[in-house]
Amino acid sequence: MAFVEFENVGKTYQMGEVKINALHDATFQIEKGELVVIVGPSGAGKTTLLNILGGMDSLTTGKVLLDGRDISGMDRRELTQYRRMDVGFVFQFYNLIGNLNALENVELANQICKHPLPAAQVLKDVGLEARMKNFPSQLSGGEQQRVAIARALATKPEIIYFDEPTSALDPELTGEVLSVMRRLAEEGMTMLVVTHELGFARNVSTKTMFMDKGTVVESGPSAELFANPKEERTRAFLNTITQHEKE
Ligand code: ADP
Ligand code: MG
Repeated sequence: MAFVEFENVGKTYQMGEVKINALHDATFQIEKGELVVIVGPSGAGKTTLLNILGGMDSLTTGKVLLDGRDISGMDRRELTQYRRMDVGFVFQFYNLIGNLNALENVELANQICKHPLPAAQVLKDVGLEARMKNFPSQLSGGEQQRVAIARALATKPEIIYFDEPTSALDPELTGEVLSVMRRLAEEGMTMLVVTHELGFARNVSTKTMFMDKGTVVESGPSAELFANPKEERTRAFLNTITQHEKE
């Protein structure tokens, strides 16, 4: 059994009379130590998938296992424990607390888990040793995102989910965040990353998944998927983005 088993997951949102099929038949696996990237157009269901895996949203059909434990069957108490202890989450907008400095933001991990890593150590790991006493407003977007990564690392998660971690950043700051993520991968952290950075997907991730219209259209070793996409929809999407990057 793989570390993450996402089996035929469906999610329907009921908005009054209208049903929105955010996910259907979504299936994939992640092995321990893998860095898996999800690419796909807006509205494909990428965030919904991460939120279900992160214990923040429930599924309508299917099953989700993490390290053999059935997340989809957990009660509220177990889910709270799971979110606090087992997984880390890094969002597009870093969600730091403005009147706490970098060190204090990371020390918040003390409030949600019993034995976090020392805040100063994880900040050093993301290259912010000299900026610990700075407030978010005194840090660049890239630095703030690295504080958010440090905060996720402090709880010693078994897996970290990233939802478009560099989408709010200026291009010149994207690289410093991606290189921290690359280092974590080299150290063996298991990560699932939604991103539009195709270079990162192609060169750094072990596996790339292409999602469209609520499902996983195809997935495979990244080098293979980029060199030779099997599905026409994947090919079309990769072409559009690559074209855009050249312009
Ligand atoms: P992506 O992250 O790939 O852009 P999302 O997972 O955010 O896609 O959204 C997938 C679909 O589900 C979209 O049509 C979106 O409008 C819908 N959706 C997402 N979350 C909710 C929600 N809480 N309530 C209703 N519809 C939602
Ligand atoms: Mg999204």
